[in-house]
Amino acid sequence: MKILRRKTRQVHLGALPVGGGAPISVQSMCSTDTRNVRATVRQARRLRAAGCEVIRIAVPDDEAARALPRIRRALPGVPLVADIHFDHKLALAAVDAGFDGLRLNPGNIGGPARVREVVAAARERKVPIRVGVNAGSVEKDLAARHGGPTPRAMAQSALRHVRIIEDAGYREIKVSVKSFDVPSTIDAYSLLAAELDYPFHAGITEAGTAFSGGLRSGVGLGILLYLGLADTIRVSLTADPVMEVTAGFRILKAMGLRRRGADVVSCPTCGRCHGDVLGIASRIEKRLTGVTEDIRVAVMGCEVNGPGEAREADVGLAIGRSGGLLFREGKAARKVPESEMEPALVEEVRKVLSAKA
Ligand code: SF4
Repeated sequence: MKILRRKTRQVHLGALPVGGGAPISVQSMCSTDTRNVRATVRQARRLRAAGCEVIRIAVPDDEAARALPRIRRALPGVPLVADIHFDHKLALAAVDAGFDGLRLNPGNIGGPARVREVVAAARERKVPIRVGVNAGSVEKDLAARHGGPTPRAMAQSALRHVRIIEDAGYREIKVSVKSFDVPSTIDAYSLLAAELDYPFHAGITEAGTAFSGGLRSGVGLGILLYLGLADTIRVSLTADPVMEVTAGFRILKAMGLRRRGADVVSCPTCGRCHGDVLGIASRIEKRLTGVTEDIRVAVMGCEVNGPGEAREADVGLAIGRSGGLLFREGKAARKVPESEMEPALVEEVRKVLSAKA
């Protein structure tokens, strides 16, 4: 079944379109101290090498704001978003530095005059503003009215911020309403979808460490994507942010929405298993982490179910009693003794990748 995406306006982060039918982009956020330009640029380059399409950088104070022009110059052409809270001057500095997007909630930056000032600067460079509401940031009055930071309270909070920007005459807006709780997040986005046609930045916030956070994000984003409610995604993990990017593309790939990167298919192993499926699959997956080509590699533990899956992949290995059978593009390619299975698999993968490049 084809996923029907919600119809939205389109905004641009630099040259990158978001919403309006553009491919769903993957973003992440630097975890470095922004004042440390060298560390921030180094991490941003690693993110970029992993395929990250939008990089967000926190701007907590004036010193961080002063670092922005140097960060901008070191990352030409990379869509950069400045994350701002409370201080409108930091937003003005980010626009001035040439950042492509702002994440700020206009209700928190000190009144209509300041909002107008930020909007005027953003408008001049066509810099979109993301309203980002988290369950933890819902205003007290809304939480009291709705009995806590419920989906309705989060949606109302986002609408309130959006209306402030609209009242200042600006419509280059993206919106997010994230919670740790998956059903609440889905309800909040669904409620907003009925009210707004701005693109959605989707994610599950404070999701956790790589494994549990990756699962939580996979479930939450999977549902949001299936409902057509995501235009750009961030997988929030307490981990190296490069993992957020890898996870983001894997989720999109699992949903059939992007075809970038490697999938390693491997069997769970059982009493029929003849070889080190776990070791071979883990090592090949690690090798393929930074690969951008669309490739599927299968590692299967026996001759019962192995050949079928191995045949479906670009490169497959079905391990048998006396070595492995390698498949390439659906056909049995060659038999190899056990000691040569892994290097032979790597060699076949290399051949397929160079053919795809
Ligand atoms: S492919 Fe073979 S070894 Fe792997 S789980 Fe299935 S039956 Fe077991």
